[in-house]
Amino acid sequence: MTDALILGGGLAGSAAACLIARGGGDVLLLERETGAHHKVCGEFLSVEAVAHLRQLGVEPLDLGAVPIQRMRLVWGDRAVETALPFAALGLSRHALDEALIGRAAASGARIERGVRVTGLDGHTARTSVGEHHGRHVLVATGKLPIRGERPAARIANGHVGFKMHYRLSPAAMQHLAGAIVLVLLEGGYAGLQLIEDGRANLCLVLRADAFAQLGGDWQGVRAWLEGTGFLQRVLADAQPLFERPLAIANLSYGPPPRGHATGTAMLLGDRWAMTPSLTGDGMAIALRSGFLAARCVLAGRDAGTYHRLLAGQTGRQIIRATVLQNGLESPAFRRAAYWLARMHAPVLAYAARATRLPDWRENA
Ligand SMILES: Cc1cc2nc3c(=O)[nH]c(=O)nc-3n(C[C@H](O)[C@H](O)[C@H](O)COP(=O)(O)OP(=O)(O)OC[C@H]3O[C@@H](n4cnc5c(N)ncnc54)[C@H](O)[C@@H]3O)c2cc1C
Repeated sequence: MTDALILGGGLAGSAAACLIARGGGDVLLLERETGAHHKVCGEFLSVEAVAHLRQLGVEPLDLGAVPIQRMRLVWGDRAVETALPFAALGLSRHALDEALIGRAAASGARIERGVRVTGLDGHTARTSVGEHHGRHVLVATGKLPIRGERPAARIANGHVGFKMHYRLSPAAMQHLAGAIVLVLLEGGYAGLQLIEDGRANLCLVLRADAFAQLGGDWQGVRAWLEGTGFLQRVLADAQPLFERPLAIANLSYGPPPRGHATGTAMLLGDRWAMTPSLTGDGMAIALRSGFLAARCVLAGRDAGTYHRLLAGQTGRQIIRATVLQNGLESPAFRRAAYWLARMHAPVLAYAARATRLPDWRENA
């Protein structure tokens, strides 16, 4: 039996694997994908996420990450811009997740790729290649539960997410340089920013009912996006770099439902809770959960203790982000928020600061 059996090799699972292996623990990480892959994500790396990555020995700038210093809020044909209160970076998940799982392997974790976990029963995981047992089981499989894990309650109206990479015209590149652009839309938002290799990432989050009203497919969404002033201008001469966008449905944002984490397994990253993507802190929470889980495994603490520590460190961020996202989905709040930001741009920086994770303290 291995000390730590980690299911899923995204940011949360790989961070935990890296730290447990560094601390002398025996780790087996199972990841269903066989190699580097794209994920639906805004690819905005917050200051907290960058700090955790550096502690793990991954330098995003070495992977080509692009600095982001400003935030632009777009509503219809209007825009307001302000400096971010922290330095952020743009980097694809394709590059980032691969670097981190590589880091976990280099730290001494055993990594098995192309292995799908099909069920969990206490300390035993069933997989496409047989059973594995762990004294500690860390579930880091992302948004969707695996069989046998206590399922999270679904919120009434989930969200859908899309991501597309583009090669932009030189004028559009210049327009975007150094900025994260958030476009407020009916029923959701779009985020656009530069990432490595001169590419741009467009990420869109829509409430399920708003998506259904657009016809429930990407064609409808694209036609609608092309009708929104800012995106129409920026994407006019853009070359899409995927044949079709990546999509994900049933996103249930918000704090973890009551009774969600009462089993013996530790739930990491999005398996624990999905903070609204708008604030760009989901990756930081995933990494933070990896740090806390590793600390608990190495100290022989149980899943209950781990979940309490994680709730204490991430709860406020998730609640504030959820209030902000819910508010921006209401037309009246959206209008008021835009005009408030227009009259007093530092309000944007305040909102960005208020939705950050507290600093990591080694002995907290
Ligand atoms: C639309 C959208 C936009 C976002 N934008 C941002 C942003 O700009 N900035 C930010 O910080 N956060 C953002 N996030 C949040 C961020 O993407 C997540 O919080 C983060 O990826 C969570 O990491 P994770 O390790 O928990 O899960 P994941 O990154 O999803 O990793 C889970 C891993 O488990 C593997 N896996 C899944 N099932 C199995 C199985 N059965 N067996 C074996 N392996 C399995 C998967 O292949 C994957 O590698 C966004 C999220 C969404 C949905």
